[in-house]
Amino acid sequence: MPKIVIPTALRQYAGNTAAVEVQGATAGEVLASLTSQYPDLKKHLYDANGKLRSFVNVFINDEDIRSLQGENTPIKDSDDVSIIPAIAGGAEPLPDLSKDEIARYSRHLIMPEVGMDGQRKLKAASILLIGTGGLGSPLGLYLAAAGIGRLGLVDFDVVDHSNLQRQIVHGTKDVGRPKIQSAKDRLSDINPHIQIDTYETALRADNALEIIKPYDIVIDGTDNFQTRYLANDASVLLGKPNVYGSIFRFDGQASVFYPGGGGPCYRCLYPEPPPPGLVPSCAEGGVLGILPGIIGVIQATEAIKLIIGEGEPLIGRLLLFDALKMKFRELKLRRNPECPLCGENPTIKELIDYDAFCGITPPEPAQKVEVVSDWEVTPAQLKAELDGGCKLTIIDVREPHEWQIGNLEQYGSKLIPLGEFPSRVGELNPDEDIVVHCKMGGRSAKAYGVLKEAGFTKIRNLKGGILAWSDQVDPNLPKY
Ligand code: ZN
Repeated sequence: MPKIVIPTALRQYAGNTAAVEVQGATAGEVLASLTSQYPDLKKHLYDANGKLRSFVNVFINDEDIRSLQGENTPIKDSDDVSIIPAIAGGAEPLPDLSKDEIARYSRHLIMPEVGMDGQRKLKAASILLIGTGGLGSPLGLYLAAAGIGRLGLVDFDVVDHSNLQRQIVHGTKDVGRPKIQSAKDRLSDINPHIQIDTYETALRADNALEIIKPYDIVIDGTDNFQTRYLANDASVLLGKPNVYGSIFRFDGQASVFYPGGGGPCYRCLYPEPPPPGLVPSCAEGGVLGILPGIIGVIQATEAIKLIIGEGEPLIGRLLLFDALKMKFRELKLRRNPECPLCGENPTIKELIDYDAFCGITPPEPAQKVEVVSDWEVTPAQLKAELDGGCKLTIIDVREPHEWQIGNLEQYGSKLIPLGEFPSRVGELNPDEDIVVHCKMGGRSAKAYGVLKEAGFTKIRNLKGGILAWSDQVDPNLPKY
């Protein structure tokens, strides 16, 4: 019997099944047999006159039945029938454009692929941007300019000087302001005709579904694995396409995860996150300022293509970009039938604890009294000991290019990068009081472990690293 693949968004009306075997010799007959099995599906697929709704596309294998014989297209037992609902628009009539909007979007309106209808679809569409940082900046700027009718911005961060090298939606005058406020001001200035919603919060398991639900498309501009899996899972559960992008140093990736559109999800590609610390973040490893511009603009392009229904989306394809070689590569992505989220027998049916899944201890609330364990020393305490004449050996485990930005050489600090640490332990004297530090305290905690393993007992880790030293002891020491 032919098999009908049910898109995620419609599964709730089909007994939560992903695929159903049905009787029938034509496309029309198999759909009729499907809706007699699941009557709730009927109003989602057909209008009041019994006509297949215009925003529901039916594919036989990979051909749209509209390019074949429509509902009369014959079906073989071995055929796969897929129902692919359109992403935006739908039953609602498209909004009209005002005279001002027509003037503003004229370069779109004269393109046959966009035109009046496409621009009205963009106006009817809504997109949620998770993050208003490196990727969120170009995304927000171009999507606002393109006339996406409703943009949602989620971020809890404030603008910092170190953001300005790449987060071009924010300016120097915005340093210290919440990113969503700064971004909203800039985007409203670019296009006053659009609605901008702001969510000043981290996306969490207890708010993600509610925040994402009103939007047609989710765009992932996050920089951590917890939020990336959360955005993926929430998008799949709600049947929304998730436009993915990620960046590190000179390398970028982009794709569109949309099981409802026949493609895989992020979990099909990466079932599990890497252990914490294995893949450095941009804050630890750096990123070329231009790179999020390139990847973010690719994500914006994909979102617009999905809305106007033109071209070939990045569904089922992973685009890899190498800025050093200036090369794009493309990998085919397949849906994993065993995927715990979008597979045949899903085990993840609601959002989970993403910190635990990614092996992360959640950051402690800021107002909590600072607890210093006996293996750590705070910058203030270390400064007091140095001023008091204590003889201490300070070891900086960062990389040489970080040392050049700023260091504690005036206190006799010595550079041994973490990678060289195990082979250079012999240079250290276990009888001396040793303090290890890095940028924020993470890498030096690993160095601490290496020394402990080697039998050292008089070791401490500088809590918060050189950034905390700059905050608490020496504001002249540059932060990066
Ligand atoms: Zn999946």
